Amino acid sequence: MRPIQKSNKLADVCYDIRGPVLEKSKQMEDEGHKITKLNIGNLAVFGFDPPDEIVQDMILNLHNSAGYTDSKGLFAPRKAVMHYTQSKNVAGVGIDDIYLGNGASELIVMAVNALLNTGDEVLVPAPDYPLWTAAVSLSGGTPKHYICDEQSDWYPDIEDIRSKITSNTRAIVVINPNNPTGALYPVEVLQQIVEVARQHQLIIFADEIYDKVLYDEAQHTSIASLADDVLCITMNGLSKNYRSCGYRSGWMVVSGEKKHAKDYIEGLNMLASMRLCANVPGQFAIQTALGGYQSIQDLVKPGGRLLKQRDLAYQLLTDIPGISCVKPKAALYMFPRLDPKIYPIVDDQQFAYELLEEAKVLIVQGTGFNWIAPDHFRVVFLPNSDDMTEAFGRIARFLEGYRKR
Ligand code: PLP
Repeated sequence: MRPIQKSNKLADVCYDIRGPVLEKSKQMEDEGHKITKLNIGNLAVFGFDPPDEIVQDMILNLHNSAGYTDSKGLFAPRKAVMHYTQSKNVAGVGIDDIYLGNGASELIVMAVNALLNTGDEVLVPAPDYPLWTAAVSLSGGTPKHYICDEQSDWYPDIEDIRSKITSNTRAIVVINPNNPTGALYPVEVLQQIVEVARQHQLIIFADEIYDKVLYDEAQHTSIASLADDVLCITMNGLSKNYRSCGYRSGWMVVSGEKKHAKDYIEGLNMLASMRLCANVPGQFAIQTALGGYQSIQDLVKPGGRLLKQRDLAYQLLTDIPGISCVKPKAALYMFPRLDPKIYPIVDDQQFAYELLEEAKVLIVQGTGFNWIAPDHFRVVFLPNSDDMTEAFGRIARFLEGYRKR
């Protein structure tokens, strides 16, 4: 029989966060091994429960959730998103500019698909949250990676951005707060990106899903609030800020220069209609979450569990010889560097396999985030302090063995 092959559209599509190393980890679990999973920002499975109010309201609203809704979503949660967006100083946003989705993920794929023709280019950060690169490739576009500079707290390198612009460049992706680096961009950096977008008529795709997971009293600025005259598509949702990844509840806001984007917006509406609507219990959760007490603050303030774990993870990792790391200002991740002189890694997926096999810890290799060299990896700091100390101890022992090879 003729082999059944995946489509050519998938040839350049990659999503290593759930790639072959995870498959290996599942296999090891089936064989009875206990694996510590530092590979994804899945808060609820580490005992970071979603706010009770959200769960209760979802249960209450289940009776009203059986029908389809408008493709963009229910009015009340969209209104809550509108108010939230206004509270972040983004001007000119009405109900019609808001789309609810099955997580930000669905909306990312939709927003990119609605825009790109074959050969169009999109500036995507390196390292990135790899769904962006994957979505651009799947849409027939070409991701062009711009460097975020580890020496400058992982801020985007504006000169590198400029150097990668061609006549085919349509958009720039800005992930702030950043996954995987934990960087939080200051206003000046955002302004420079807006200036580049303005000069070259680029759309800004802003991924702000961690905008409340901020440490050390840091403040987040929505890039859309600085860009009234540039088309901005901002993604956010409940997965991280409200610890409810499983509810698949996200939103997208269209703001800025909409006058010249009527056709694109028609495309967005078409794709939103084709998937009928986002899951309705998840839509109800948005309204409750945004209207309620912002309980993530308890986790990130002094004495809060996430903050304590960030500090512990930073200490434990940077105590290992040959590891350096920019301390994250936000989000749930660290993206440490392995000094190539001490750890001459050629294939970092192989490194992740070996770490998994020997230390029983699952991490994601840096190249999985489209990083340029096999010298980084990403971990979450979500296990409780005892489990984290134990798991990072195993990583340290594995690396000690690696140094002696
Ligand atoms: N954007 C970033 C930067 C993420 O890290 C993630 C998930 O880890 C997502 C988007 C996807 O979020 P959602 O669960 O809303 O689909």
